Amino acid sequence: MRVLGAIEAGGTKFVCGIGHEDGSIIDRVSFPTTRPEETMAEVYRYFEGKNVEAIGIGSFGPIDPIPGSPTYGYVTTTPKPYWGQFNLVGAVRDKIDVPIGFDTDVNGAALGEYTWGAARGLDSCLYITVGTGIGAGAVVGGRLIHGLSHPEMGHIYVRRHPDDAFAGTCPYHGDCLEGLAAGPALGQRWQVPGAELGPDHPAWEIEAHYLAHALMSYVLILSPQKIVMGGGVMKQSHLFPLIRAKLQDLLKGYVQHASLTADIDSFVVPPGLGDNAGLAGAIGLAAMALAQE
Ligand code: ADP
Ligand code: ZN
Repeated sequence: MRVLGAIEAGGTKFVCGIGHEDGSIIDRVSFPTTRPEETMAEVYRYFEGKNVEAIGIGSFGPIDPIPGSPTYGYVTTTPKPYWGQFNLVGAVRDKIDVPIGFDTDVNGAALGEYTWGAARGLDSCLYITVGTGIGAGAVVGGRLIHGLSHPEMGHIYVRRHPDDAFAGTCPYHGDCLEGLAAGPALGQRWQVPGAELGPDHPAWEIEAHYLAHALMSYVLILSPQKIVMGGGVMKQSHLFPLIRAKLQDLLKGYVQHASLTADIDSFVVPPGLGDNAGLAGAIGLAAMALAQE
């Protein structure tokens, strides 16, 4: 089997690994995301002598994933210090001359879940992460969604919860979904890290309210056959039943499908690949790049 390289480029840490076209991961390492030169030196060191035939990169964003665009392969307008307008694909290609697949971390994870995880065998799926930020990617008909650039589904506006006066944390929009419901919003609203809020805390009903509103929009706009929810905040597994019930309340039976009624428990689900969704997705991006050569 061919050896493929994977890079899960996160704002907090980079995970590099190697694996095969069947989605198996045979090795991985992780290091903190510091300055580009320093972080890329770690990447080069990891892949040295590994003889990968292609590399897939699932990156934090915003990025430019459109081949042919002058800034293709760049991390673009990120507020993360030192990484704005950084040519990530170019930096990898400088040292490792193989086909490179490049997409958002969440499009990568959607591809991983679609190919090997919870959405295996379906035509479409959406993957949303609720962590330091909120982002979502989607596969429809076997293709990752792109257009002008990539979707930014974490920044949609959602209807306010009647008991919530929190201003929101998004530096661009204030109270968009990410501003109201990502990990940092939970921490600031309640003055305690999300991981320390007990399952009976009122935080979770409000959290589920916002996430269910977002899922309603995704269902109405994309009609995905499965929604996979990952990221640190979704480790609070009691959120799943709350979100499913609220999603059903919001849709009011308008979209008629068993996935939204009797089978809702298998429609909104945690990642089938667990914490490997991102890295496996990057392997999938590498396999796609190889196939397109
Ligand atoms: P990242 O988004 O940086 O890749 P994570 O998906 O782990 O990383 O998300 C980190 C965010 O999730 C932090 O804001 C953290 O407070 C929050 N978080 C992590 N674990 C939990 C948990 N068990 N419950 C609630 N929030 C959590
Ligand atoms: Zn926003």
